[in-house]
Amino acid sequence: MFHMKLNNSPTSKVQYNGFTFYVKRDDLLDSRFNGNKARKLYSFLTHSLDDIDTIISYGGVQSNAMYAISELAKLKQKKFIYYIKQLNKTIQVNNTSNYLLSVQNGMQTLELLNNYTMVTQNLSAKPHELIIKQGGAEDYAKHGLQQLANEINDWFISNNFKKLNVFIASGTGTSAIYLQQYLHHNITLYTANCVGSPEYLFQQWNTLGFYSNYPQILANTKYRFANLYPELLITMLNIQQQTNIEFDLLYDSVSFQLIMENLPIFTDKPFLYIHCGGTVGNHSMLQRYAHLAKK
Ligand SMILES: *Cc1c(COP(=O)(O)O)cnc(C)c1O
Repeated sequence: MFHMKLNNSPTSKVQYNGFTFYVKRDDLLDSRFNGNKARKLYSFLTHSLDDIDTIISYGGVQSNAMYAISELAKLKQKKFIYYIKQLNKTIQVNNTSNYLLSVQNGMQTLELLNNYTMVTQNLSAKPHELIIKQGGAEDYAKHGLQQLANEINDWFISNNFKKLNVFIASGTGTSAIYLQQYLHHNITLYTANCVGSPEYLFQQWNTLGFYSNYPQILANTKYRFANLYPELLITMLNIQQQTNIEFDLLYDSVSFQLIMENLPIFTDKPFLYIHCGGTVGNHSMLQRYAHLAKK
């Protein structure tokens, strides 16, 4: 297998408006699977999948997980079928979107419209098929996230920190809940619900078999996923300028907004922000912001 960087990402020390913190640079992992998708798909990427000929998944058309799975399918030479509710025309024509990149990788999409929920909730794998739930919310994800936790624990110990706060953004919450299981007991993990409500996160965690020992949630009650908020864009452009790191405009924007609103929690201990990648989707978000500005 040719070389893929799937673990041991570096850590950067940065400053934003006088707040000094660290960034775990999972965005610097292999660009096809970067961020937490590299962690979540780690098991599949490191196994042969010989008995599988078709990968099936479902979810949003802008999904970073979709793109990462399309790269997985291409690499492993598997057919990739992706169920969506409805294809949004603006996304279809945007030639840098996750969607088009995934189609170029051979992804076949099926638009299910009103049948979407019924079909996706009742999927069952035939022989030779692999079903990956929306966003990779699966038990296999734990292996890559345990590795991420080990890297953080080692870094924590080698820096002689007494305590540490860590933050990881949540979509499905899969990354956060597995990370929580393996972090050192002097590390507190925070997350924010970027996609659904906090209740949605608890539901996801219950579905994955967790009923206690949850990460702390900074509750997002204001920002709807993938909607445009000029104030978030401005914050992100400032952060990018001051840290020299490009963050993603879907998850990191909401996350930093909440971190800044709750800053006193994060200033009394060292703070490590996990960069989950996803910057491949920034181009289409910036186009949408530019379009909004014209109106
Ligand atoms: C997928 C993704 C997340 C959320 O991961 P979950 O495990 O679904 O919670 C966060 N940030 C970025 C950039 C992502 O691509």
